[in-house]
Amino acid sequence: MSAGTLVPLQRVVWDVGAGPRVRSTPPAVPLTLREARRVVRRMARAAERPTVVLAGVDPLAPSDRGLPLSGLVDALTSHGFPTGVALHPMAPCTTRSLRAWAAMGVQHIVLHVDTALDSPLTGIPGVRHTDGATLVYARAVVAAGMRLYATTRVTALTAPDLMGIAALLPSLQVSRWDVSFVVPTATIPRSEPLRAVRLERVLAWLARYAASAPFPVTTEGAPHFIRHMHPQPDGRTLAPMVRDAQGMLYITAGGEVWPGPDLPLSAGNVRQHSPQALYRSAPLFKSLRNAAELGGRCGWCAWSQVCGGSRARAYALTGDALAQDPHCAPVIVPVAPGHRGLPQKPP
Ligand code: SF4
Repeated sequence: MSAGTLVPLQRVVWDVGAGPRVRSTPPAVPLTLREARRVVRRMARAAERPTVVLAGVDPLAPSDRGLPLSGLVDALTSHGFPTGVALHPMAPCTTRSLRAWAAMGVQHIVLHVDTALDSPLTGIPGVRHTDGATLVYARAVVAAGMRLYATTRVTALTAPDLMGIAALLPSLQVSRWDVSFVVPTATIPRSEPLRAVRLERVLAWLARYAASAPFPVTTEGAPHFIRHMHPQPDGRTLAPMVRDAQGMLYITAGGEVWPGPDLPLSAGNVRQHSPQALYRSAPLFKSLRNAAELGGRCGWCAWSQVCGGSRARAYALTGDALAQDPHCAPVIVPVAPGHRGLPQKPP
């Protein structure tokens, strides 16, 4: 695979702005439903049909906040886009709203399972405590005929709960577990994310769990999970991990297209451009997926073309989205001498 090879766009995460306000700055001018429908029609001109996940949804939010979900879901499903709804982690939910979304054509629900069941970890901002209500919602999703995707936001504080969460998920009939390793943002302090060595230990454990889990296990914010899933570096046969600008993009409530939800750099606005065109051709996106432009170890390690490091973490901790991922443990990175197309030593 050559540097900068384009991976088909697989996932569009679209912030519909109906969740509790947690970001530091509200969107300047949120998209209207009419504008959003125009965006969907423009997306539909391309042959590809990435999954669209409507994120930050609070079913009980005031009606004046965010895009009307039913109108947007209708536009997406009528054009053949597989559509999911990601509940805001702090939003309440109702089984009635879940049934309504299933009737609209929503195919999957992303539900936060951030702690073990009835864990003593409570009251942490941005972390959904798992309790009996979570189980009710999870069962209601499956009963309504939708797939349940569990997502877990991992911080230094919540990481010890991962084993309890892993033990719980099979009983909830989840179809996928997405383990999201937080990166520092405007609302997440630098002390929260796992540091390199601990992160590697968690990834090693997660790979062992994934080997026998009855559902796929994916990560966000840790593309170097691929090293643990495939111990031999082989950029010729492995598919690149889906990460910021590589297989995915994020649309803010105001229509800006970012490489991912935690990488606040805009390639353009969907009011003027098709998301797929920005994904394919925007210089920002092309640079982020070009291994030859990455800094430090991420530029020369044997995994750079299929991993590439967390660009969001690099940006958050260094101010440079192309810098080396600061939370990839240097002692563990295997460099394959003579690996195809890459230097044997760091330049
Ligand atoms: S150095 Fe960068 S590209 Fe290599 S494994 Fe670590 S994060 Fe991935």
